Amino acid sequence: MNDFDVVIVGAGFAGMYMLHKTRSMGLSARVFEAGDGVGGTWYWNRYPGARCDIESMEYSYSFSEELQQSWKWTERFAPQPEILKYANHVADRFDLRRDIRFSTRVSAAHFDASSARWTVRTDRGDVVSAQFVIMATGCLSSTNMPAFPGLDSYRGERYHTGEWPHEPVDFAGKRVGVIGTGSSAIQSIPIIARQASQLVVFQRTANYSIPARNAPLDPQYEARIKAEYPDFRARNRQMQGAFGSANPRNEVPALTSTPEDHRREFDKRWERGGLGFNGAFNDLMINQQANDIGRDYVAQKIRGIVKDPAVADLLAPRQVLGCKRICVDTDYYATFNAPHVELVDISQGGIEAITPTGVRAAGRTFDFDALVFATGFDAMTGSILKVDIRGRDGLALKDAWSAGPRTYLGLNVAGFPNLFTISGPGSPSVLTNMIISIEQHVDWISGCIRWMREQGKRTIEATVSAQDQWVDHVNAVAGMTLYPTCNSWYLGANVPGKTRVFMPLLGFPPYAQTCERVAANGYEGFAAA
Ligand code: FAD
Ligand code: NAP
Repeated sequence: MNDFDVVIVGAGFAGMYMLHKTRSMGLSARVFEAGDGVGGTWYWNRYPGARCDIESMEYSYSFSEELQQSWKWTERFAPQPEILKYANHVADRFDLRRDIRFSTRVSAAHFDASSARWTVRTDRGDVVSAQFVIMATGCLSSTNMPAFPGLDSYRGERYHTGEWPHEPVDFAGKRVGVIGTGSSAIQSIPIIARQASQLVVFQRTANYSIPARNAPLDPQYEARIKAEYPDFRARNRQMQGAFGSANPRNEVPALTSTPEDHRREFDKRWERGGLGFNGAFNDLMINQQANDIGRDYVAQKIRGIVKDPAVADLLAPRQVLGCKRICVDTDYYATFNAPHVELVDISQGGIEAITPTGVRAAGRTFDFDALVFATGFDAMTGSILKVDIRGRDGLALKDAWSAGPRTYLGLNVAGFPNLFTISGPGSPSVLTNMIISIEQHVDWISGCIRWMREQGKRTIEATVSAQDQWVDHVNAVAGMTLYPTCNSWYLGANVPGKTRVFMPLLGFPPYAQTCERVAANGYEGFAAA
């Protein structure tokens, strides 16, 4: 059996940086990655129109000044192929591939208390031993394919946005159905519509989408950021979501502002484009009345774009603005003005069945040459729980999490020594610029391992009481907001049967400070032996 200090599961941005960091500490590491290349999200999600919703100058690693100075992004929001190229560049630049086993899925990780080591198994028969196991498996890496009746009977082309083929897919002249209206659908629908002869979009819940205003990256802006990149990064780390310091939240309540103020601020942010729209007022996510003002603004914008009032009405979201991650689009709403594009409301009956030739929904039958499932992910816990993880006394993680995920700091689970999760449930992760959250977690885990070596400790694990308090804290923070009011994947509500628990923690800066304090106080809340 091969022995390593660290086994890392996943070679997305989390696994890649973790590998780089462990190597720099002189530790031996083995990475297992299910895909045949690096990049994680950007390796799998190759659907047309896929791109980041955090601006390129921010959605990138900050750990190497040389890297961030030398890399050139071409657009305000980088497209998927460019982000994947960047991931490959990082792998080459830091010579990461030699420690990564591609096309290899970790199937099990079992802890042995007598040796204080983990035994890790893969679907290719590898059995390796490691002191530490780091789950860099991603929050949005386990696709959600609903069990639609008749799914397997469908005879046409079938795609999931999260497992898109590597070869270009040509929809030219085809009748295409898209199920879902989340970010992946909203990015791909305008492009598919340009190719297809007929496009039908099945919408269960209308989503908010703000224009991206994507454009070639302004060279002057790039130069300005590069002239002070570390300071720019530091300012962003002080933002709630670890991004957007150039367009911060307007610290004024909508409730005490006038209708003219509302229009001016929302107009400004709609014109600027991007996720900053949600920062128009500081009470949008804590007060329903304030949020209604934002909701009505978006509805009125949609009515201005979409010519058929009935379609505009269907596209106007009903749920709280920002309750699900808002989408950032290019021409999404306008696409529904095209005569060959139809929106079908399935909010009442859902998809009734997939048939050999298409879809039955809303009491009608539709025939398609290709079906696109833009149905999202079993988020935050899906990929972790697909691995048979057993901690002390054979405790299975799926049992420890039977009532929803429980972690301390989103980093470790009581009863699972030396097992760390990067951007795990209970950490800000998906509510932030994730690369910055990933870096913060990797740095913290590395610091913890260094401390253990210095202190001669073999194991570290969260105490049950620290974990209980942390879970209460995460829930209490969410409970002060409107986030838990809709059926979002933050709550696991998109996957039938999944326990409804708000999984991410709101607020990056206080979280990062807590992690620092925990470390400075000798890893309080953890037991090390
Ligand atoms: P991932 O990139 O998901 O990588 C995890 C890797 O682990 C995958 O390659 C997977 O194959 C592998 N893996 C999982 N289980 C196993 C196993 N058992 N064995 C071996 N390998 C395994 N975030 C932002 O901040 N801004 C954005 O603009 C943004 N856009 C996004 C767009 C899309 C379409 C999606 C789906 C997500 C987006 N995200 C965005 C979130 C994105 O997931 C993160 O930003 C980031 O890429 C996550 O990196 P990661 O390494 O943690 O996980
Ligand atoms: P998603 O937001 O979960 O959207 C999935 C869509 O499928 C929703 O419209 C959902 O409807 C629908 N759906 C799910 N199950 C269904 C069922 N059984 N019947 C009918 N409809 C069903 O997934 P996503 O679009 O892939 O995005 C996931 C996350 O990835 C985003 O929130 C974001 O964090 C990230 N992402 C980011 C970008 C970007 O702009 N950079 C792009 C893509 C993804 P309901 O809403 O009713 O559940």
